[in-house]
Amino acid sequence: MKVCRVCGRKKDAKRWLIPTPKEVALAELMSRLEPVHCEDCLRNPLAHSAVLQVRGMEKDDLEKIILEELVKTDKKGRREKVVPKGQNYQLSSKSMAKRIGKKMKDLGARIKVTSKLVTYDTQSGRQVTRLTVRAVFEFAPGDVVEYKDQVYLVEKIMGGFIYTKVGKKFRSKDATKIEVARQKGFYISQNPPIVFIEETGESLEVKEKGKGKVEVIKYKDKIWVK
Ligand SMILES: [Zn+2]
Repeated sequence: MKVCRVCGRKKDAKRWLIPTPKEVALAELMSRLEPVHCEDCLRNPLAHSAVLQVRGMEKDDLEKIILEELVKTDKKGRREKVVPKGQNYQLSSKSMAKRIGKKMKDLGARIKVTSKLVTYDTQSGRQVTRLTVRAVFEFAPGDVVEYKDQVYLVEKIMGGFIYTKVGKKFRSKDATKIEVARQKGFYISQNPPIVFIEETGESLEVKEKGKGKVEVIKYKDKIWVK
């Protein structure tokens, strides 16, 4: 049984998996334990074959997705590395970067994938390239957008579509983001629903009933609470 000296995983056909203590003990007893280095541990830790650039998404949400992918590849027997570098992430796997890019696209990001020649591997006679996956979220929940002369509050973005609070759905590429005033407030009445704006001292009647602190978003004669 081939076992990696560094990570302790055993070779199972083409995959590297964590062996049970019993498996290791048995292999040791039978003198079948062969210490080796797996491909993942042999790889230069400074080398990365992909760069992930995500803009307009919360760091926690992004890192949750990255972690899910890491767990998934680990289960398949490949140990990938992700190293944060400033706003970006360096990945040891191109396919993992692509899969994350696909997820970002499904969530409504604009994706751009570029490949750059890094060096030429004289031993294998192959070109070594680095992949950059750039995902930009132009819109976020709570944004106000204009679509066909109407303004809407964005509820969520999925699969390239914007879903609004009033149940309208349209392609994000057809929408334009509008800069709006945002103020902090809190409900002072339920019937009718009235929100008090701390900054200006004004009381505004709003459409939605609610409780406690809210963000008041104003654009022309429209008022939303979030
Ligand atoms: Zn290893």
